[in-house]
Amino acid sequence: MSLGLYNKKRNFNETEEPEGKKKQGKVKTLSFVIQRHKASRLHYDLRLEMEGVLKCWAVPKGPSLNPKDKRLAMMVEDHPYDYKDFEGVIPEGNYGAGIVEIWDKGTLTALDDIDPSKAEKALLAGLEAGNLKFVLNGKKLKGEFALVKLKKADDNSWLLIKHRDEYATDEPYDSEEHTPKSSPINKALAGKKAASPVKKKPS
Ligand code: MN
Repeated sequence: MSLGLYNKKRNFNETEEPEGKKKQGKVKTLSFVIQRHKASRLHYDLRLEMEGVLKCWAVPKGPSLNPKDKRLAMMVEDHPYDYKDFEGVIPEGNYGAGIVEIWDKGTLTALDDIDPSKAEKALLAGLEAGNLKFVLNGKKLKGEFALVKLKKADDNSWLLIKHRDEYATDEPYDSEEHTPKSSPINKALAGKKAASPVKKKPS
């Protein structure tokens, strides 16, 4: 798998994001991360480790633990493994300029009935088939999820769906409500609001 596109989009003299190198060595545990990214629009980035890189989807509305929600997830270029720890500011004028913060992270496995040593193979087969079933063990996201590829002309569109299990909820789920007010992005947004002058309504 190639990190060429990732590297091409970024100037590593300017951004503090990690340079795209493939992770070496044997994998024991697979990781996932969800980063909250304030770029031109606020969105969430779901990243799942496979074959030494992170497979990535931008999720505009963020993930949900309610199985009724089908959250659009746009597949984007592979990111390097080290990106899972990235938090910080991407300077103005660079790709994805804005703020990145980690919203949730943890381990990634295939469905429980799959031998852990075959988990990565099962995940890759699911990815290839456009029907990826996986289990997350994070702080906020737990249990089974699926990413289902939409059969449309635009082949980057997937849906992120929570499977019904002990971690699912029937209540409305808004990932923004599960973000601390003190998060770097929320602080920046609050600062911006405070800084902009209050406009009087025309009478
Ligand atoms: Mn992003």
